[in-house]
Amino acid sequence: MQKLTQIKTQLLFMQDEAVLRQLHEFHLADSVHVCIKNQKYLLMASNNYLGLTHHPAVKAAAVSAVEEYGTGSGGSRLTSGNHPLYGLLEQDIARFKQTETALIFNSGYMSNIGTISALANTAADVIFSDALNHASIIDGCRLARAKTVIYPHSNMAALANLLKNTPCSGQRFIITDGVFSMDGDIACLEKIVYLAEKYDGFVIVDDAHATGVIGIGGRGTAVYYGLCGRIQLELGTLSKALAAEGGFAAGSQLVIDYLTNKARSFIFSTALSPATLAAARAALQVLLTEPYRVERLALKAARIKDKLTLAGVHLLKSETPIVPIRIGAASQSMDFAEKLYAEKLIVSAIRPPTVPVGSSRLRLTITDAHLVEDIDKASDIIIHAARTMGIMNSLNK
Ligand code: PMP
Repeated sequence: MQKLTQIKTQLLFMQDEAVLRQLHEFHLADSVHVCIKNQKYLLMASNNYLGLTHHPAVKAAAVSAVEEYGTGSGGSRLTSGNHPLYGLLEQDIARFKQTETALIFNSGYMSNIGTISALANTAADVIFSDALNHASIIDGCRLARAKTVIYPHSNMAALANLLKNTPCSGQRFIITDGVFSMDGDIACLEKIVYLAEKYDGFVIVDDAHATGVIGIGGRGTAVYYGLCGRIQLELGTLSKALAAEGGFAAGSQLVIDYLTNKARSFIFSTALSPATLAAARAALQVLLTEPYRVERLALKAARIKDKLTLAGVHLLKSETPIVPIRIGAASQSMDFAEKLYAEKLIVSAIRPPTVPVGSSRLRLTITDAHLVEDIDKASDIIIHAARTMGIMNSLNK
């Protein structure tokens, strides 16, 4: 069959290009170690930024919700799945994000595709989207009826130019990651808001990697820049620092009422289980009562960046616990990740199409649950592997 032949050719091509993806089984032994075939590995490839997946209070909340309410929700939010924990979590998120209200989706991916396609829903609208925005934003733009214009990554002069010169008879939207997931840099939100106010733009920020990570008490990019009340919609996930699953949109009652009626990924999918909602609530409570975790995470991230940079490992400029090591070729980043794996350290090799061709990298993520010893051990392993592979800055080879 023609289609099957095409598929086979594509898979072989991907294998040749070192971009074929495969599933590997492992399970978390604790928040920073995984077990593979009874062996323990140190994990530096997880977005569990605050290490709360194994916090006793978070686990207990999920277990007691299962005991009390069972497992699945059995229906969508608008039919029979709207457990009271939803309302409570939405209030918690809105208070945390300092917005009027919030809406929980089943994942960050679904928040992005659902909100963008529901809001930017006429051919008169134009979306201005950063070139390095997450795939779920890209897919949201693809589903939207609006025209999408991509601006070069964080290039505010280019964005200003495009806002000025792109004809638009409807609504202009500016959409950006708050923290860019593969680079770890923070969006120039002050400038974006300035331009949005100038051109009557509707700003949407995806704070998946910013929530629990930047801004006072981990409140995200708007708080980091002191821009509360000037962002029309903040999106995020419960699956990273908040140690559960699900996504959210936080904003005005008006916009949230609209999304409740129009966001198809919200309407047509079964609600999350009560245990997931209870875990996210408990994790947020830990963050609220122990905000020092956010600063401690930043210090740990700074420690590994300093050690690697001093030794001559070439890092991309990151301002967060996402630590990208620049490699270039996809095959070389796979080899690097395999070398680390042999030393029982798991780090993600990031390849196209997640990043542009020629910009493959290793992406370490530091969490608050990593001990200083873990960080030092990982640095030593990485420096040694980089030296063996000859991919240090020339002065330190
Ligand atoms: N936005 C960004 C920036 C992300 O990195 C991710 C997940 N990697 C998502 C959205 C999707 O979130 P989720 O995993 O909860 O679907």
